[in-house]
Order: sequence, then C-alpha cells, then structure tokens
Amino acid sequence: MTFQLLQPTSLAEACALLAAAPHDAVPIAGGTDLLSEIRDGTAEPSTLVALDSISDAGLTGISGTPDGGLLIGALTTIADIAAHDGIRSHYAALAQATAGLATPQVRNLGTLGGNLNQRPRCWYYRHPLTVCLKRGGDRCYAVQGLGKYLCVTGGDRCFIVHPSDTAVALTALGASVSIASPDGERTVAIADYFVGPDVDLLRENILQPGELLAAVSLPAPAAGQRSVYLKAQERESGDFALVSVAAALAVVDGVITDASVVLGGVAPTPYRASGTEDYLRGRSVSGVSTSDAGDLAIADPRPLPDNAYKLPMASNLTARAVSTLLAGG
Ligand SMILES: Cc1cc2nc3c(=O)[nH]c(=O)nc-3n(C[C@H](O)[C@H](O)[C@H](O)COP(=O)(O)OP(=O)(O)OC[C@H]3O[C@@H](n4cnc5c(N)ncnc54)[C@H](O)[C@@H]3O)c2cc1C
Repeated sequence: MTFQLLQPTSLAEACALLAAAPHDAVPIAGGTDLLSEIRDGTAEPSTLVALDSISDAGLTGISGTPDGGLLIGALTTIADIAAHDGIRSHYAALAQATAGLATPQVRNLGTLGGNLNQRPRCWYYRHPLTVCLKRGGDRCYAVQGLGKYLCVTGGDRCFIVHPSDTAVALTALGASVSIASPDGERTVAIADYFVGPDVDLLRENILQPGELLAAVSLPAPAAGQRSVYLKAQERESGDFALVSVAAALAVVDGVITDASVVLGGVAPTPYRASGTEDYLRGRSVSGVSTSDAGDLAIADPRPLPDNAYKLPMASNLTARAVSTLLAGG
C-alpha cells in the first residue's frame, strides 16, 4: 500500500496534522509495530506523521524532575531506558521490563511511546483476513477459536491482553503520562490511560484524534521502596508475556508501608492485584505468607476454555515477586 510521510518539526505541528485527518493519519516512532501492521494489512493509514523529526525539548531522553522523580520522553528508546543508571538503581521493575523486552534490534529502534501505544497481539486481530470486533467487524473469533494467549479477566466481547511490558511496570511504579494535543498538554495517571473493550472496542487508550503521548514521569521512589518485574514467556527472547507481574513494596522498620502489584498478560489493560496489595499493606514482613499473597492476585477470574493455565501462573509469579522483594532483591 502507499502512504505519504509527513515530518513535522514540533509537537504542536504533529498534533495539528493528526487532528486534520483523524481517520487517515497515524503517528510513527520507531516503526517496529506500525510497519508490520501496515505490511500485514491490519492498518491502512494514508498518512504517517513521523515523530523523529520533532525537536521539542523533553521528547527524547531522560531527565530529573524537581520532586526527585524522572521524566522520560516518549521517543526515548527501550534500550536507553534499560541502560539508564537512575532507572536501574531506583526503578528496578522498569529496568527489568525494558531489558527483557523483545529483541536487541527492537529495543534499539522501539520507543517508549510506541511500546505503550502498540496494538494488541491477538492473532485474530492481526490476521489480514479476519475482520474482528477490534477492527470494526461483527464478532470475536477467539470465543469459538484459540484463546491460549488471551485474557483471563476483564474481557468484554473482545479478549485481548495488553501487550506492553513497560505499561505494567510503569503502572506499578505510579507513573503519569503527558498528553500533547492541539490545545496544549494534559497529564493523567498511567492507570487511567489504558481502556478495555468495555469502554471502547476499537482503541486501547484515551488518546483522542490529534493527541500524542509526549512523556512519562515517574515519582520519586518512596522511602524503603524496592521493585521487581517478572515475566513468564514461552521463548527466552523476542516473546510477549504469558503472564507478568510488576511489584513495588515500601518496607520501613520491618513493616510493609505501601504495596503496588500489577499483572500483565491477564487482562485487556494492566491489571491491579488489589487483593494482594490489601493483604500486604500494613503487614509485618515476618507475617507475610507469599502463597497467600499470590492466591489473591486475580479477584475475578473468567478464563477462556484453553487459558486457565494463566491463573496458577499469575499466583505463582506474584508469590515469587513478593518473596524476591521481601528477601531484599
Ligand atoms: C519480535 C517482536 C517482539 C516483541 N516483544 C515484545 C515484548 O516482549 N514486550 C513488549 O512490551 N513489546 C514487545 N514488542 C513490541 C515492541 O516493543 C514495539 O513494537 C515497540 O516498542 C514499538 O515502538 P515503536 O517506537 O517502534 O512504535 P511504532 O511502531 O512506531 O508505533 C507503534 C504504535 O504506537 C503509536 N505511537 C507511537 N508513538 C506514539 C506516541 N508518542 N503517541 C501516541 N501514539 C504513538 C503508533 O501510531 C503505532 O500505532 C515486540 C515487537 C516485536 C517486533
């Protein structure tokens, strides 16, 4: 297929170009996901708006914020995030999520903005000949088909899982995102950025036509905070999560003062394991049963016929994450 490539030099210009053609123009960053969608016929934009020609400060790179946190520009590559000293020391879950994601080639080209906005990997959605609900069709083929990799909770007519490892880690770390629009910029908690099929079958986030994700900010880590990212996958490299967990615990004087536990691979959006968090918060480290913490991970399981294996996997991975953090890992 043919398309035109536009190369704006500012975020404002990029937003204006996207707003002018809401159904035909899409942003392109590293192209590692979008170009395969175009090649496979699952996306057919007539216009690509390149982000790498934009020179606005903060769109690329990682810098400190006045409150002791970090600001990561949307065009920062996955490889640069994985290698950043401040992220490796203070936000281990994000460092581990980025270091283990995809392949070296994808990490060198792929950007944070592209990773958070990549489209689902459901093979019915990605198949050129099956026009499923997510592509404006009239049915979900997975319901009668193969659901091995799909969600075990939160599905509603469509049963995708959110594919991004960084989304899971950033949600657990309490990040927020800056959204550039033709009218300026707004900031929302990343937990409110993603939407499931119950809210919108066609999109996975709250971006409106003409809007772009500009940056992600991480708050300063709480006192005594440690975090970890664990991922179960079929192949050792280049594979998406069957189930993943990002956990951040703050431990002060032997007591868990805060707990944030988020799962990937189980729901259409990063899934907050509220039961596990409630169990851990305020509990002394010596009083924690990691298997109890793991068993509480998914409160409302609704597996498809062939993916119930994800439930014990989620419990075990959560238990292991908690145990790793309480052991000082
Ligand atoms: C072999 C392979 C294995 C992979 N394994 C994993 C994995 O294990 N875990 C994982 O998380 N990911 C994985 N991925 C996905 C990969 O990480 C993404 O393809 C990559 O991060 C996308 O970044 P990009 O800059 O290339 O995005 P692009 O391909 O340029 O864009 C992707 C999507 O995001 C939109 N977009 C890009 N930037 C912005 C922005 N700033 N604001 C709004 N929308 C934007 C585009 O319009 C497009 O729809 C894998 C990909 C491949 C090819």
